[in-house]
Amino acid sequence: MPISGLYGPDDFANRPQGQTTAAPRSVPAGSRPALPMPSLEWTPEVERATAPHYERVKHVIPPIEWPLMAPTIKAINELKRARGAVILAHNYQAPEIFHCVADIGGDSLQLAVEATRVKADIIVQCGVHFMAETSKLLNPDKTVLIPDTRAGCSLAASITGADVRLLRENFPGVPVVAYVNTSAEVKAEVDICCTSSNAVQVVESLGAPSVIFLPDRYLATYVASKTDVKIIAWKGACEVHERFTGAELRSYREADPSVQIIAHPECPPDVLAEADFTGSTAHMINWVRERRPRRLVMITECSMADNVRAELPDVEMLRPCNICPHMKRITLANILESLLTLREEVTIDPALAQRARRSVERMINLKN
Ligand code: SF4
Repeated sequence: MPISGLYGPDDFANRPQGQTTAAPRSVPAGSRPALPMPSLEWTPEVERATAPHYERVKHVIPPIEWPLMAPTIKAINELKRARGAVILAHNYQAPEIFHCVADIGGDSLQLAVEATRVKADIIVQCGVHFMAETSKLLNPDKTVLIPDTRAGCSLAASITGADVRLLRENFPGVPVVAYVNTSAEVKAEVDICCTSSNAVQVVESLGAPSVIFLPDRYLATYVASKTDVKIIAWKGACEVHERFTGAELRSYREADPSVQIIAHPECPPDVLAEADFTGSTAHMINWVRERRPRRLVMITECSMADNVRAELPDVEMLRPCNICPHMKRITLANILESLLTLREEVTIDPALAQRARRSVERMINLKN
């Protein structure tokens, strides 16, 4: 069914003006000292040490570019061991990060679950700020670093904790589900979190006739199409996925009727209507592994197609993708800097973290 209501910051007369989500905080490096910058020269030893990494990405990174990346990759992998750190990387990270320095890769749900199992003292989050906050929520005693605190998200920036309180005032008794793409401040105000992998399951788990679902209006529309629960939505959108159009997808199919098209549920409904499959990034990857289509269009962030192609070179990717500028703030250079200086550390007020953690853990503990 269609969503039952759509609200945004301008729909509440009593909303205080000028609100923004809390700015990311960072703290000075802890007791461990900064380490000196290692040599970043391209040498025969670097070539030998990084040959197994290049084997993983040779289909998506030209040989001429490898000498520029390999010394930093080697340095990061050595520093990780020296620091006792683990690197978590989202599917939208560039192949040289996702395949060459990350210990764990995946979508938001996979990273959130893996973050609970991490043994290392230091987590370096290669993704955007809300992901680093989620790792910190689940690992309050560990040091969580994000290489660039400016790595934000248009969805997380679309709503504040005060907005959730206003929604609750306007819809008393209606439970609130927040997509993980929200700040810890918002997670602290809601009943449970969800990801695009489990959104329908989470909504139905509440056993309520109506649910407030925030902040992505398009994911909310997708969920509403899959459930009888009435969905009240927020006007947020992913700036990467909302740019795709149904007309664009039709033109790919007209050019090659045999092409397969898969899309992320953060896309508008006319895009999803043209797709052969809709799913989270993890579900999309599994779909490609199982089906092995000859030619494929992945309607999502560009690096995801590169990361899948690195693994499955026999699948020809057409690349009408959009880049997420926030994800691309994370680079090999600032990951190295982060490990050398132990900055920027993500911190969350303990009382707020306790409430936000409850919403994330409630999602993780849902039975499949
Ligand atoms: S791709 Fe969209 S949802 Fe993901 S981090 Fe970028 S802006 Fe946010």
